[in-house]
Amino acid sequence: MTETEILDIFRKHAALLEGHFILSSGLHSDRYIQCALVLQHPRVAEQLCSELAAKLRDLCPVVVAAPALGGVIVSHEVARALGARALFTERQEGVMTLRRGFSLAPGEPTLVVEDVVTTGLSTRETIRAVEQAGGKVVGVGALIDRSGGKADLGLPKTALVTLNVQNYEPSECPLCKAGIPAVKPGSRSKK
Ligand SMILES: [Zn+2]
Repeated sequence: MTETEILDIFRKHAALLEGHFILSSGLHSDRYIQCALVLQHPRVAEQLCSELAAKLRDLCPVVVAAPALGGVIVSHEVARALGARALFTERQEGVMTLRRGFSLAPGEPTLVVEDVVTTGLSTRETIRAVEQAGGKVVGVGALIDRSGGKADLGLPKTALVTLNVQNYEPSECPLCKAGIPAVKPGSRSKK
């Protein structure tokens, strides 16, 4: 599948919006990605994640890990395609960690996946959690890298689609200056 075909799937499910948005970080942006709207369709999730898995198969992971909640379905479907285990990390008192009895054998080759990489922060936290549990992170994958490929994770990194999405401080947002109303996706309120 080409990047254009994948983006068409996102647009078809209203998972890639263009306009003026307030992100959960508080920054403003002209594009908004809501992967859950694509991943709610198991067959589409399976199709996209098997595409991602094919790009990462050569790394020979036996475990796939992702940060909850956004990464859980991606982890599960990539692991299904690779015949690997699927784990997820969660925050406990602010620290990303493996809970629920999940464990890794020493040096177990592990892939870290995400739905969307924005700054790479949660990906880095998940890598650290896997390493602290004894696993060896062999690579990183995402459905969409919206950092334009700039998020540096110090590991082989693959995304189905790389987008260079601009984020703006509200005080510097050109869309605000143009008087375009900002929308907070996922809520009904408009600013
Ligand atoms: Zn704005």
